[in-house]
Amino acid sequence: MKFRLTKLKHWVFRILRRLPMPVIAILIGLAAGFAVWGVLDQIQSRAVKKIFGEELQARLDLGSRESLLRFNQYLTNYAATTRLLANHRRLAQYLEPLFWFPEQEVDPILYEGFRPQWLPDFFGRNALLAPSHVALVDTRGQLREIYQAGSDPLPAELLKDTQQWLGDDEEVRPLLIRLDNQPYLLVSDRVEDNGGYNMGRLMVLVPINADFLAASNGAVPSDRSVVALIDPDAQRILASDEPWQLVPGTLVEDWTSNYLVTRQPLPAYAGSNWNMLFATFVPQRSIKRMSRHTVYFERRQRLVAALVFIGVFTLVIYLVSARLNKVLVRMSSFSQRALGIEHPAFSRGGNQLLLLEEWIQQFTQLVLHAREEMRRKHESEMRATEALKAAIMEASLDAIVTLNRDGRMIDYNPTAEQMLGFEPVQALGEPFAERFIAADVVERFQDMLSESAGHRLGEHQTHVRGELHAQRSDGLIFPIELSIVPIDLDEQRFYTLYIHDITKRKQAEREIKSLARFASESPNPILRVNEQGLIVYANAASEPLLAYWETTPQGQLPPLWRETLAEAVHEGQPREREADFGSHIFSLLFVPIQDLGYVNVYARDITAVRRAEQESRQHQAELVHVCRLSTMGEVATGMAHELNQPLAAIVNYAKGASRRLQGGIGETDALVAAMSQISSQAERAGEIIRRLRALVGKQPPIRSRADLNHLVREVCGFVEFETERLAVSIELDLAEGEIPVDVDLVQIEQVLLNLVRNALDALSEQPSETRRLAIATRVSDSTAWVSVADNGPGIPSSRMARLFDPFFTTKETGMGMGLPISQTILDNHEGRIWAESSPGQGACFFISLPVWDARETGTGEALSIPAPADQGPADRGPIREQASG
Ligand code: ADP
Repeated sequence: MKFRLTKLKHWVFRILRRLPMPVIAILIGLAAGFAVWGVLDQIQSRAVKKIFGEELQARLDLGSRESLLRFNQYLTNYAATTRLLANHRRLAQYLEPLFWFPEQEVDPILYEGFRPQWLPDFFGRNALLAPSHVALVDTRGQLREIYQAGSDPLPAELLKDTQQWLGDDEEVRPLLIRLDNQPYLLVSDRVEDNGGYNMGRLMVLVPINADFLAASNGAVPSDRSVVALIDPDAQRILASDEPWQLVPGTLVEDWTSNYLVTRQPLPAYAGSNWNMLFATFVPQRSIKRMSRHTVYFERRQRLVAALVFIGVFTLVIYLVSARLNKVLVRMSSFSQRALGIEHPAFSRGGNQLLLLEEWIQQFTQLVLHAREEMRRKHESEMRATEALKAAIMEASLDAIVTLNRDGRMIDYNPTAEQMLGFEPVQALGEPFAERFIAADVVERFQDMLSESAGHRLGEHQTHVRGELHAQRSDGLIFPIELSIVPIDLDEQRFYTLYIHDITKRKQAEREIKSLARFASESPNPILRVNEQGLIVYANAASEPLLAYWETTPQGQLPPLWRETLAEAVHEGQPREREADFGSHIFSLLFVPIQDLGYVNVYARDITAVRRAEQESRQHQAELVHVCRLSTMGEVATGMAHELNQPLAAIVNYAKGASRRLQGGIGETDALVAAMSQISSQAERAGEIIRRLRALVGKQPPIRSRADLNHLVREVCGFVEFETERLAVSIELDLAEGEIPVDVDLVQIEQVLLNLVRNALDALSEQPSETRRLAIATRVSDSTAWVSVADNGPGIPSSRMARLFDPFFTTKETGMGMGLPISQTILDNHEGRIWAESSPGQGACFFISLPVWDARETGTGEALSIPAPADQGPADRGPIREQASG
């Protein structure tokens, strides 16, 4: 059963899902409308019936009362008419002559079918039903004259004792009586003759039958209700105005199924022998018909109301569903955007309410899911944070201790254990200040704690910092830096103490302080200048320097030196400069400390050094000169020989010219030619002497721009005599164009001359035909080289190392100063000199010099550049010894 119900529910749900809302709206509208209509119909029909019944009863009561009134009125009309008749002149006149003997038994005069003269037709005139009998009765109650309208005689019961029904009072007397089981209206009134004599009574008898009742009810339509007289004792109908419907003599209860009966007592009439009820019979049929009409009418009204209700309900649901549709579409896009879900049912169509419900379920689930996710994430984050906190606590290099508001320890990290030297657990609950703060600063600690207590969380500055002394468990007192952070947890105040052991820092500070004394104690000036050139520190030794600069500590550096300062700061490299104040020379090293924005200036008084250098240079120059003189001593021999040639030529030309002049054969042209030869030879001799003087003369070293190729050529000129003597021709392989160098001409020529002469010395030991001497020059961007190569005996490796030592010589007349002097000269020229040799195959000497343009940057870094070996004597063997100065 349960299974079936579930299945049914499933199917209903499926159908509902597929039906669009408007259709469901109409179905629900119809169902609801009909349900409402059905319930209302039941309730209202009953209510209407009840109201209708009550109303009907009231109306019936009213109607029957009206009938009774009319009936009474009708009786009253009879009484009035009877009174008129009794007092009518015509009756009085008729009675005038009559005299009825009281004891006389007489048969009454019967007028059957016609009216006697004393009886005018007043009943007809008053719209009353004609009575069945009108009679005159004498004072003793004997009937004297009887008018009988029909064939029926007076009822026997009346005849038996007439007097008892009439009475004797003067008033007219209507009476409802039963005679021979028939109801009658009997009205009597006193009659008198013209003379006022009491003649007896006028009696009017009207049978209360259907006609009577109909006439008494007058205009009331007979199909509505039937009036009747009822015997209350026997519950029988005595008379009705429609006897064919309500048959007199039948029991009332026989009719109650078809009629609604209203009974009313009739007014009591004195002397009446019968108690009767006036009853109104309304046919149930007509009531039902009326009730049905009303119910139908009501039902129609309700149906209209129900239809209107259905219409409105359907319209409302339709509008709601249309609105829902829109909402669904929006929600669909919303859920797509916000949650990334797409509801497939939206595109399918169907019952929007169920779709909405589904969507809401899905949405709620997603939200719940998301909330659960967030909670889980939050928890894992919390765990991670806790773990991180724990890790931080564990790994912290500072001791971290948590105190409660009374200053007792409730938590700490391992560093605290080590730093303060207590056993785990031992310290929990201990008053921190007493245990671990040095006695002399406990008060200060308490002050910090209460200062921290005054701080509120969320304030800009929440922690209190200070330097104190802590005391380890073993009594060791050491400096600490303490930071107290107040924490409010669950309305309770706690303090977290971050304790940093600053023993090492203090030590370092002391060391730094002592280090700082280095500067102040230094005999050399040490200054610290900021980037703006302000001297922020100057030691005592700086006084003379500051005096030369005409400034003071905290004063400004002179503008010239501010430039150097800016350069050092800009390049981030130390810069060294010399400051020459005439009497004193300082070497200044500007070292930028970029992190701090300062420049340290280390100065050195180098006056003495510079003087020594100057003296040394002077000595050196003198030495060079002496050396040169010695070289020149040998050169001069050659030079003198060379001088002989022009001098001999001059002598020859002069002798020839004078001979011609003396012989008188001299032509002017020949003489002029001889003279010009003389002067050119003299110039040549002068040139030789000038060169000699230049080399021999003592002059201070002067640097000037020169062409290295030119110097080489000049040196070759100096040794022409010797080369000729040794039958050696110098092979020149010079670089193209000029090789500009910044040199002292004489000194570099001295070097070259020395190298060439050494080579010639070496060659002199060789057979004359194999002698070769090659000089080459090369140049790169920044360096120029000269190589002097010979194919002499070469230099054994044992000599190589000592080649540039002073006084090292293998020659008998040699001084051993040529190469050391050359080295000094090249050192002064930022150049180099070195030798290579393959023993037995010759030697090659190299010099390198910075090229003029590269003078600023080149500092003789020519080592990596290969020597111009190719221009030297060809085969120098595989092994090369190298010596360098
Ligand atoms: P000196 O020429 O007065 O001896 P140097 O200083 O000029 O002094 O030379 C030192 C030594 O170097 C010479 O005595 C010689 O032994 C050696 N030497 C110099 N040049 C050569 C060369 N081209 N070949 C072989 N030996 C040389």
